[in-house]
Amino acid sequence: MKVWYTRFTKRILLLIFFWIGNWIHYSAFGQSFYPQQQYQPGQPASVTTFGTLYNPVPILIHSAATYYHGPQDVWATAYLPFESEYDASKTAIPFSQDYTTAIALTSAKNDALGLYAPIEVIALAKSPNTNLMNRYPFASVVPNNVNQATYTGPFNTLKDLNQNDPSFNNPLASEYAISVLEAAQKYTKFTHDFFGHNGIDKQGDIVILANVNNSPDALTGFDTEEKAFYFSVSALPGYPHVERSTIGHELTHALLNFGNLGNLDYLEGTEIASLNESFADIIGLSFENWVDPNKKFVNPNWIIANLSGPFPVNKAYRPFDNPKFRNSPNTYKGTYWKLSSEPGYRPHNNGMVMSHWFYLLNVAKSGYIDDDPARGSYITAPLIPGDKTATYTLALKIIFKAMTEKLAYLDGFPEMRIKTLEAAVELGNPVG
Ligand SMILES: [Zn+2]
Repeated sequence: MKVWYTRFTKRILLLIFFWIGNWIHYSAFGQSFYPQQQYQPGQPASVTTFGTLYNPVPILIHSAATYYHGPQDVWATAYLPFESEYDASKTAIPFSQDYTTAIALTSAKNDALGLYAPIEVIALAKSPNTNLMNRYPFASVVPNNVNQATYTGPFNTLKDLNQNDPSFNNPLASEYAISVLEAAQKYTKFTHDFFGHNGIDKQGDIVILANVNNSPDALTGFDTEEKAFYFSVSALPGYPHVERSTIGHELTHALLNFGNLGNLDYLEGTEIASLNESFADIIGLSFENWVDPNKKFVNPNWIIANLSGPFPVNKAYRPFDNPKFRNSPNTYKGTYWKLSSEPGYRPHNNGMVMSHWFYLLNVAKSGYIDDDPARGSYITAPLIPGDKTATYTLALKIIFKAMTEKLAYLDGFPEMRIKTLEAAVELGNPVG
């Protein structure tokens, strides 16, 4: 097992909750943590971090517990863990009576199953006795005496995919990993269905690698250098960063990073940094709304990360319908707008101008600009009056097209205004 080390970097990370300079650096980015292959006798074992998934098959875990969203169906991968069991006279398939079967929390791309990108979830865990961080797989051998159709875990008992060490204790519960895997899978379906966009790279070829962690640095974010995700389960006790809107927020940062705009890391303080955060909020929250059968786009929630702890300890709590509740602006350069040189500046806060605009596209509302009668009044109507789902969907398509196809590096809010209007026209909706 490799040991992790911490070093200082100057990289600025796209973090939903914290901005920190300390980071754990990976030397092994790009490696697949759950390599899959058909077992062949005599074939040398590949050198991997955790081992190999032999003869893998997708398996649907029914009603697995997620942290915030109740029991959910999640795709995982069943495999044969032990080479020593290989018998040339027996068909080597998982769940056959002649072999031990294990399940790992990873899923391959499989369009027919609604999985539009490969996903891997691993543990990055601080040892209880030292400050060293270790990586572990999320995998377990399925006990002999359980019904495979109703087995829902745990999935964190193997230290190595191909070895069973009964003394091993993964400090991170598999419920966290189930939550991340479920959200990431449904996110790929959400962006596929609405935008024709698979995974984070559009083709769905890049692995979505999620590090569930209890790092003292409270790591939650997308690392643009390593192309990997971090979700902290310890940043706020009792409220792990595994809510769907949080997962969706970070995956959306990656989607932008792999797109036309490229790496926005070094644009801290510019308006596009705020547009980046707002776009991640809008897509992440829309994803959470869409997946919830009680919300969808008919009864949407307007507060991102609303399940991840009470305000104000939940620093990601951002209400689209009332940005000023978080001392954030609802108007471009209006009240609470901050220059990057001012104390308390965060791109997330200025970004709420666009998140509020997105909310206003969906509702009928009237008021004063920046709540100031001296600035004049406004009135809004839903984009498609009388149809909440069509309105929300069109608003989403407009912002997605403008942000991923039309916005240019270093553009700001005025350019975004023009490009959303262009996108609306190109989507068949004359402006007027
Ligand atoms: Zn962010």
